[in-house]
Amino acid sequence: MRPLIAGNWKMHGNLREAVRLAEGLREGVDGVDLLVCPPFVHLHPVAVVALGSRVAVGAQDCHAAGKGAHTGDVSAAMVRDTGATHVILGHSERRQNHAETDASVMAKTEAALAAGLIPVVCVGETEAERLAGRAEAVVTEQLAGSIPYGFITAGGIVAYEPVWAIGTGRTPTEEEVAAIHATMRHALVESFGPAARTTRLLYGGSVKPGNAAGIFALEHVDGALVGGASLVAADFLAIARAVPE
Ligand code: PEP
Repeated sequence: MRPLIAGNWKMHGNLREAVRLAEGLREGVDGVDLLVCPPFVHLHPVAVVALGSRVAVGAQDCHAAGKGAHTGDVSAAMVRDTGATHVILGHSERRQNHAETDASVMAKTEAALAAGLIPVVCVGETEAERLAGRAEAVVTEQLAGSIPYGFITAGGIVAYEPVWAIGTGRTPTEEEVAAIHATMRHALVESFGPAARTTRLLYGGSVKPGNAAGIFALEHVDGALVGGASLVAADFLAIARAVPE
């Protein structure tokens, strides 16, 4: 499976910096797909820079409704209209800061699929849940609650992002990552059939050039969702180059 390295730019940078960062990635990395997810307002200019390159562009969220009185929100069709092809959904910062639930992530994922976007659905346990030995149960529950019918065949992507590893510099052990990814693969194949063997499963949480190769070597890890290190073109490309040939 062709690996995907996705960058979540969160709420960082101004327009000039976003365009410059995208320009720095245009060359791409052989054998790897790149995806960058800028804030809504930078989607179109970044999509213009990325046009004709090996870099795809995605949003960090979308609304579940097609249109309506939703001040400040952006529909999946609007995201598609910018030239973006992907959308991150259910990131733990959205689940925590905007009270998103599995059900709302499911509804947004359905809207994204209907608009022709490829969803990147995030799941992951909190530190308390891991310490309580519930990491695999939590992730399995989140998958069951947020992945709709049609996701697998549309090329939907899942990102395992342990909440306690995001932006902290801490990561699970390689054995812990491998165990969750094997659990996710099993759960998806059980629910959606053998097509789910080709669903990309990304790991996210403090991925850096220095730890990427070990993570990418693990079975059922098909790439990464990168936050902080995606804001520096050289680091993001170094992570992509760490994918084994
Ligand atoms: C993220 O927010 O999706 C993420 C993985 O962040 P970081 O790489 O900074 O931990």
